[in-house]
Amino acid sequence: MPREERDLATIYDAMACGVIVRDAAGSVVFANAAALRIFGRPPDQLAGTEPPTGEERRIREDGTLMPDDEVPNVAAQLRGEPIRNVMMGMVRADGYVRWLLVDAVPVKASDGSVSEVVSSFTDVTDRKKAEQELLRQTLHDQLTGLPNRVLLLDRLEQAVRASRRLNTPLALLVMDLDRFRQVNDSLGHEAGDALLRETAERVRSELRDTDTFARLGGDEFAIVLPGSDQEGAARVAQKVVAALQRPFEVEGGALEVSTSIGIALWPRHGEDGQTLLRRADIAMYNAKHTTEGFAIYAEEAAEEDGSNQLALMAELRHGLSHDEVTVMYQPIITMNSRAVTRVEALARWRHRERGLVPPAEFIPLAERSGLVRSLFEHVLVTTLRQCNAWQKLGLPLQGAVNLSMRNLLDPELVKSVSAAIERTGARPELVGLEITESMLMADPQRAMRAVEGLRSLGVQLAIDDFGVGYSSLAYLQRLPAYAVKIDRSFVGRMTRDRSSESIVKLIIELGHSLGMKVVAEGIEDRATWDALLGLRCDAAQGYYIAKPMVAEAIPTWLAKENQTTTIN
Ligand code: C2E
Ligand code: MG
Ligand code: MG
Repeated sequence: MPREERDLATIYDAMACGVIVRDAAGSVVFANAAALRIFGRPPDQLAGTEPPTGEERRIREDGTLMPDDEVPNVAAQLRGEPIRNVMMGMVRADGYVRWLLVDAVPVKASDGSVSEVVSSFTDVTDRKKAEQELLRQTLHDQLTGLPNRVLLLDRLEQAVRASRRLNTPLALLVMDLDRFRQVNDSLGHEAGDALLRETAERVRSELRDTDTFARLGGDEFAIVLPGSDQEGAARVAQKVVAALQRPFEVEGGALEVSTSIGIALWPRHGEDGQTLLRRADIAMYNAKHTTEGFAIYAEEAAEEDGSNQLALMAELRHGLSHDEVTVMYQPIITMNSRAVTRVEALARWRHRERGLVPPAEFIPLAERSGLVRSLFEHVLVTTLRQCNAWQKLGLPLQGAVNLSMRNLLDPELVKSVSAAIERTGARPELVGLEITESMLMADPQRAMRAVEGLRSLGVQLAIDDFGVGYSSLAYLQRLPAYAVKIDRSFVGRMTRDRSSESIVKLIIELGHSLGMKVVAEGIEDRATWDALLGLRCDAAQGYYIAKPMVAEAIPTWLAKENQTTTIN
């Protein structure tokens, strides 16, 4: 049944997709209601004029300009065949993009020429937006809105290609926050998130629009600096370090966070993005012991060694959070009464493949990788919990925990010790801390402040490995330590070597004249014990008395040796 033209128009207008019919000259001869709605223009403006008003550019799906002969209705007209499923963006003067999915079908006259082109199109802007948002989300970090690792690598490779083509320099910076984990652990994830967002903002404002700033994950960020050479990269690093030096306002308090930045330069340190990233990462770990807070990748440092160390650091980080680091306890015994007053806590890393890694190997690693505070807190809290447990068994014992150099210089040390005491509910006098003589002398003023802070918490301090460093007497005199521990190298040799014996004798006298107790470590035999007793040494530690043992072995050992425990 033939239909009136009017009926057809009603049907067209009921359709959700837009329909436009153009004549051979390209003028619009028909537009349905949806077409007018989509274009937002009255019929008289749409009909007849093509291209509409010139205010719109057409773009392809990839954002590049769509040439006229690719516009579906034009292409259908030119080629005389249907053009289907073309994604076309219409860019408005204000930048707004309307996305259309277009079909254009030519209608041919009896002579085979194209007399009209029927275009039908659907507005897919919303779908497109959702897709773009999804893409954005997979390439960006939710928390900071910064590009993520995937996008960074892509941008980095692009930058490398551009640098190669234009023969311009390129630098990559990788940075992390030195104390982020502690903030997260002690103040909670919300504070940690706030800190990351603020960090992102501060760094962003130091960079140019052409730089890529990305979050690699956790507290790690990366910056791609196209066109920057070593000097330029160092300047940016300095600015970033300075920007993060200002205290952060988190949870109503001021928080100080420092950063370490590693720099790798193209092409000197790597031809491709992956290599640059790896080397900037290595440089970042080296930056942790510079005062500037940043370091440029050092070619001469063996890559092999670097990645080995890095792998081990990553494993230590993992180990710390997975209870691979345990504590052994070695009794310290009062020589006269044979009472056990304290045990020294000695860290052990039970590595899945390497077995028991001694502290001499992993403590320096922890120092370099910013893990040393977590390590210390872990050992301290473990020890204090253990002391509480012994106390409940009627065995009061002080736990003496070793500090490393970085711990002592850590401005948060006193806070973290008092937090550990609070968390475990331990009595402060159950806490002993050992500081080596050489640590004290590295930065005497700062060490003194830390020591005084610790003393005010009520914890006891001992000077470890005494005799191998060079302390000034005046300094020692002012130091509120209760004991010095004679380094085991002297103790071990004292019965065989005259000069070691006289050093031991001297240290005992010195300690006593300063009003401190003297503890000898590394006693391995009866002869050494007797000699020390003769020299009026106060306390003893060593394999002769007991080797370091697991916590559970302590009560059994005490019972077997018929030892008592006291705290003095
Ligand atoms: P240190 O504080 O001087 O600890 C004493 C070391 O001497 C321990 O070695 C202990 O096992 C060992 N030792 C005890 N008695 C004898 C003996 O009779 N003969 C011999 N030859 N050795 C004896 P360890 O456990 O290997 O620890 C080595 C060092 O690592 C410690 O020296 C300490 O400076 C450091 N350390 C251990 N645990 C920690 C920790 O949790 N944090 C930090 N920062 N350092 C730690
Ligand atoms: Mg010690
Ligand atoms: Mg020692």
